[in-house]
Amino acid sequence: MAQFKQINMIYSDRFLDHDTGGQDHPESPERLTRIINHLRKGPLKDSLNFTEPSSSGTADILPVHSREYLLRFEEACLSGRETFGHSDNRICYDTYEVALLAAGASEMAVDIAEEATGQVIFSLARPPGHHAEAALPLGFCFLNNVAIAARYWQRKYARKRIFIMDFDAHHGNGIQETFDEDPKVFYASIHEHPTFSFPGTGYEEDTGSGAGEGFTMNMALPPGAAESLVLKTLKERVEPAMEQFQPDCIIAAAGFDGHEADDMSGLAYSTSLFGHIGSFLAVLADRVCQGRLISILEGGYNLDFLGPSVEMYLGGLAVKI
Ligand SMILES: [Zn+2]
Repeated sequence: MAQFKQINMIYSDRFLDHDTGGQDHPESPERLTRIINHLRKGPLKDSLNFTEPSSSGTADILPVHSREYLLRFEEACLSGRETFGHSDNRICYDTYEVALLAAGASEMAVDIAEEATGQVIFSLARPPGHHAEAALPLGFCFLNNVAIAARYWQRKYARKRIFIMDFDAHHGNGIQETFDEDPKVFYASIHEHPTFSFPGTGYEEDTGSGAGEGFTMNMALPPGAAESLVLKTLKERVEPAMEQFQPDCIIAAAGFDGHEADDMSGLAYSTSLFGHIGSFLAVLADRVCQGRLISILEGGYNLDFLGPSVEMYLGGLAVKI
């Protein structure tokens, strides 16, 4: 019997066509090729199953982004502009179409989670999404893949309660904004303290608004925070929150830029920490929502450690208990 569960990687070479100068930009196509090359050489290689996504339709995006924003985004790409909204957000002719495909990959992750149980599901897509707000591109993000997946899960499969666990080094302002007043979607984010880190949001006192009060949980870590503090925070804050909320399904915004070698943050995560995060989420998902858990790639920019970090995370998710 295999040591690992089947690992569904949702991926297309088309994700490489969002190319804004190769490695001149940290959010480069090579991020994905490095991950794949690493996984194919390692202990998970026989458990991998790659699936090609199809593009998200506008109807699936409109619950999160405005039509006007989508038109502006498409027009910026097709007219040959090099940036959208801010100089960080580099675009090329293909970016709009590739972003629709990345959103479609997150929807396919949901579809697979509903069709099969006991498998690992990971959307290996770019551009990332968790900084993108309803009408604002930010931090290399254009369409909020995680938020789109959550709304899709609710709408297509009538799963009402969604728990989002964001462990990217940065606060997912776009996810928080989308669900700020929504008591059915719990947003938990563990990130470097906003005083020290982009985008400057995600303070502990931000806990949601209106009917959504109490359904946002920001866990801001000091620079240099490492494994022991993260594990303690997961155990003492995330686990009780998830057990109390009783979600129908869980979405992980899986960012790997908290790694100690990643200069996008001041956090000091080890590679092995991502394995602990994976097994933590897998165990909890089994306990609270019959294992309905998908992961969607966000950040992670050190090309030498991104592959090993993703491998460690997938191994934590996939190990048979
Ligand atoms: Zn990040």
